[in-house]
Amino acid sequence: MSDACGSCSSNQGAGGCSGCEPEDQKLTKTLSRIKHKIVVLSGKGGVGKSTVATNIAVGLALAGKQVGLLDVDVHGPSIPRLLSMQDKQPHIGHEIIEPISWSKNLWVMSLGFMLPSRDDAVIWRGPVKMGLIKQFVRDVAWGDLDFLIVDCPPGTGDEPLSALQTIGPEAYAVIVTTPQGVAIDDVRRSVTFCRQVGNPVLGIVENMSGFACPDCGKVYNIFNSGGGEALAREMNVPFLGRIPIEPEVARSADEGFPYVKVEHDSPAAQAFNRVIKPMLKMADSLQEKPASELPTLERLAKGNGSLRVALPVAEGKLCQHFGHCQQFAVYDIDTATKGVVASTNETPPTHEPGVFPKWIAGLKVDLVLAGGMGAKAQSLLKEEGVQVLVGAPSVDPEEVLKSWLEGTLQTGANTCDH
Ligand code: ADP
Repeated sequence: MSDACGSCSSNQGAGGCSGCEPEDQKLTKTLSRIKHKIVVLSGKGGVGKSTVATNIAVGLALAGKQVGLLDVDVHGPSIPRLLSMQDKQPHIGHEIIEPISWSKNLWVMSLGFMLPSRDDAVIWRGPVKMGLIKQFVRDVAWGDLDFLIVDCPPGTGDEPLSALQTIGPEAYAVIVTTPQGVAIDDVRRSVTFCRQVGNPVLGIVENMSGFACPDCGKVYNIFNSGGGEALAREMNVPFLGRIPIEPEVARSADEGFPYVKVEHDSPAAQAFNRVIKPMLKMADSLQEKPASELPTLERLAKGNGSLRVALPVAEGKLCQHFGHCQQFAVYDIDTATKGVVASTNETPPTHEPGVFPKWIAGLKVDLVLAGGMGAKAQSLLKEEGVQVLVGAPSVDPEEVLKSWLEGTLQTGANTCDH
């Protein structure tokens, strides 16, 4: 299944995807205009997932980014309340839903806007809920965005699965937990869930980690803190920081103004800012390379009848960390027909700084299509005359190659900066 066909996987049993192709195209088009997708997940409800999602979105918007905030938490869509937007009604046109503007660069869409009254419970059955999530992602007219932040339903069931599958493997997961043991177990399941679905985990946020005293500013650890960080280490995913319990965070949520808009120096505000730092870094790293300089087939094919392309692979998928891959899938391409004329799997030597670039150059590779790659490896490859494209999704390497050949490869952030 190609990335472009992400939304039709669950329809295959019911008559294949021929009937839903225009919808898939629409989804692909919508998603291709969004540079970074961040899906906020939690193992269970009540850990502050919506609070974190809202403050991430507002923090990124305050940093000048074009941001969409999509609330598909079918169990309790709370974003309208958190942003004082309960009375807003989206304009629904022909197969298009217009997001509501919260500020000049933050647009919001929530299932909550569709409920007749704020007291209504959502009693849709499972398959309806999943269809609704898909429709929501596909039909909202976001336009060009730097970031789409998605507030997902909690847990690791069909609904977050549907959200991740619809948005695709280039969406990064941010997993919110609290420090207690039971929440930490849930988060372990969430990390495994993301890995199984094929989405990279941007990191874990430990919310309600200690109590920030409003009088003295000191943070008191009421429960054990540090569980989220230990788990992040154990599961080899980044730790994005601890957000303390701060009465103002709860009050801002109750009164419908985002905390990071009004607070800048408190422990919680600083923690929220640390959480968005890697996202801003993502945006900056993408901007480093203008589209006119990206290595496309057309650009590389000039004067060349054939090209050799290598992709780092681990466990059958494109490896997100160049230096940690098990093998390289190497393809010879006929640039006139865009067809693969030969392919091999090459096992690299033991990884040491600087070893892979030389070895790859020795294979006469023209282009490396990678998930994440450190700046050093990129410049060494460049010195050897090998082109590099980073940010490819963690899917079957043949799919990555195919979409690159077709000119439809969607790249996200460089997932590895060391
Ligand atoms: P979820 O989306 O996981 O169900 P919410 O974001 O709705 O959780 O948060 C649950 C409650 O906890 C809300 O009342 C919210 O205001 C409060 N809350 C979340 N994070 C904090 C925090 N760091 N300090 C104080 N209150 C918080």
